[in-house]
Amino acid sequence: MENKKELRSWLSNMGLSHPLVIAGPCSAETQEQVLTIAHQLKDTDVTVLRAGVWKPRTRPGCFDGVGEIGLKWLQKAKAETGLLTATEVANVEHVRLALEHDIDILWIGARSTVSPFIIQEIADALQGTEKIVLVKNPINPDLSLWLGAIERLYRADIKNLGVIHRGFSTLEKTQFRNIPEWKIPVELQKRFPDLPLICDPSHISGNRDYIFSVCQQALELSYDGLMVESHHDPDNAWSDAEQQVTPATLETIMQDLKVKNRVK
Ligand code: PEP
Ligand code: MN
Repeated sequence: MENKKELRSWLSNMGLSHPLVIAGPCSAETQEQVLTIAHQLKDTDVTVLRAGVWKPRTRPGCFDGVGEIGLKWLQKAKAETGLLTATEVANVEHVRLALEHDIDILWIGARSTVSPFIIQEIADALQGTEKIVLVKNPINPDLSLWLGAIERLYRADIKNLGVIHRGFSTLEKTQFRNIPEWKIPVELQKRFPDLPLICDPSHISGNRDYIFSVCQQALELSYDGLMVESHHDPDNAWSDAEQQVTPATLETIMQDLKVKNRVK
C-alpha cells in the first residue's frame, strides 16, 4: 500500500518510529530484571518496553505474574530510560490499574480476544481513552473474533487502536509454536486499512531461532511494527524462555533486517 505511514495516524502523530519496535520480557519478574533489560534496550531501535505483569498461563501452577508492583517497575524503567511502556490487560481491574499507573500501551492477549464478554468489559472500561490499545489475534484462526474485538473497541470510541499478529493454535506439527497463517491479517487489513499491524515473532516462533525470519517476512508484508520478547538471561526467564532473545541479539536482528521506509 502506498503512503501507508500517513494512514497510520497515531504512529506518526505520536512521533513513533516506523516500524515501531516493542521489546522486553515475556514477564516482569523483579525490579532489577525490568530495569536491566530496559537499560540494555534503550539505545537500540526499541521505543517501547513491554512486560506482562498478569500472565495468562494455560495451566495452573505456573508463574502467573507479579501483578500491580510490576507496573511501578515499568514506570521506573520509563523514568530512567525514556522508553514508553506496554503491558497486557485482561479484565476491568487490570485496565484500572494500568491507567492509574499511566502505562502508555495496553494490549489485549490472544486468550482474551476469543471472548466477546471480556472484550466488551475491557472496551467499556477504556471508553474514550486516548491510550494506544493493541489487540492480539485470537488463539484460534477465526478472523471474525478478531474483527469483532476491533469493532467493540471502536464502538467504545477508542481511536488509537492497532493489532498484533501472534500466530494461531494448530493441531498440525509444524516448526512454529503458533502457525502464522499470514493471509488472516491480510484479510483483516482489507477491512481496517488504517489499523497499524504489528507482528509478534516470539509467540509465532516459540523458538529464538526463527525470530529473524518471521520478522523479515512481516517487514516484507509491510507490517508497521514488531513486538519481540527480549530478556537479559533468556534461558532463565520465568516464562517463554525458549523464544526470548537478549537485547544484544535483538539489536543484531534489527541491523540485519531489510527494512523498507524506516523512519526514526
Ligand atoms: C505475551 O505477549 O506474553 C502473551 C501472553 O501473548 P499471547 O496473548 O499472544 O499468548
Ligand atoms: Mn510470552
